[in-house]
Amino acid sequence: MSETICLIRGDGIGPEVTSSAVRVVAAAGVDVEWVELPAGASALNEHGQALPERTVAAIMGHKVCLKGPLATPIGGGFVSVNVQLRRRLGLYAAVRPVRNLPGVPSRFDDVELVVIRENTEGLYSGLEHEVVPGVVESLKVATLSACTRIARWAFEYTESRGRKKVTVFHKANIMKMSDGLFIRCASKIHEAFYPDIEYEELIIDNGCMHLVADPGRFDVLLMENLYGDLVSDLCAGLVGGLGVVPAGNIVDDCAVFEPVHGSAPNIAGKGVANPLACIMSAAMMLNHMGQTAAAERIKTAYNAVLTDGDPALRTPDIGGRGTTDSFTQAMVAALG
Ligand code: NAD
Repeated sequence: MSETICLIRGDGIGPEVTSSAVRVVAAAGVDVEWVELPAGASALNEHGQALPERTVAAIMGHKVCLKGPLATPIGGGFVSVNVQLRRRLGLYAAVRPVRNLPGVPSRFDDVELVVIRENTEGLYSGLEHEVVPGVVESLKVATLSACTRIARWAFEYTESRGRKKVTVFHKANIMKMSDGLFIRCASKIHEAFYPDIEYEELIIDNGCMHLVADPGRFDVLLMENLYGDLVSDLCAGLVGGLGVVPAGNIVDDCAVFEPVHGSAPNIAGKGVANPLACIMSAAMMLNHMGQTAAAERIKTAYNAVLTDGDPALRTPDIGGRGTTDSFTQAMVAALG
């Protein structure tokens, strides 16, 4: 039976890496009807809107989407389409697995952690204003309901995956009310429902020091929106960079999968973007849809291509001299 999946190709390297993932999903034997949807800077140029209403409606209807990165103007311009999409679709939980891959050079060899990021609140609420000329305020929002639901989601995820420990990163020594609420909710959910899971709270600056010194001590990391954004990229650096870290934004009735990286304008159109993060996001998506055998085939294929170690196949960001296309072709060949 054919699966219907929404597809946002994205900006910059988005079309290159999503095309690769689409080819790999087909090679894994999944029959997909892709519903292509406009969003981002390209949609603004072509449709006059960065996030057309029909894009939101289609994802709500089909419930699953694979998304390339979307560019956001800096210091002005339209509101981030990523933020808008997550808010409009109620995608409050982002899950970003970070692990070593065979043959990908990195400083550590024992990284096997997951970052869970609250996706809808914090400083991403977009509530900024100028009080008087020269003075601006940006509001950090935390609500009991959103802090509680992300804590529940994180513990449920931890338990369902057989993971053992949740560490919350916070700055409640300074943001006593907002981050204070975040850790109170996490601690309450832990005590009430998941006492057998190990629980730890770390002030985020200390947490980052521990991450770069000994990432193997972490299992599941839970944090609010901005910290999750920053720590995701930091963690990507522990395992070979942004080209190898996937993400899912998942709630009960809707899910959008995307690489953690952005549109990488510095390499867009050069054919050297690493498609692996997008391919891994597609594998997460297939798992989410119950296509677990196909997801496993994709995982086995990229492990095999990476283990092979041929630098002509892999992209430069992970020590190769290949291209997006050479890696994709190697994946297709490995999938037989
Ligand atoms: P970026 O992630 O696009 O790039 C950071 C660095 O990593 C660059 O050197 C880039 O070349 C490299 N890189 C990223 N992905 C790569 C890949 N697949 N293969 C090889 N190298 C890769 O971050 P940025 O430059 O800070 O942001 C560029 C744009 O992307 C901005 O407009 C930003 O708002 C947007 N962005 C979007 C998302 C998203 O859509 N989820 C996430 C982050 C940033």
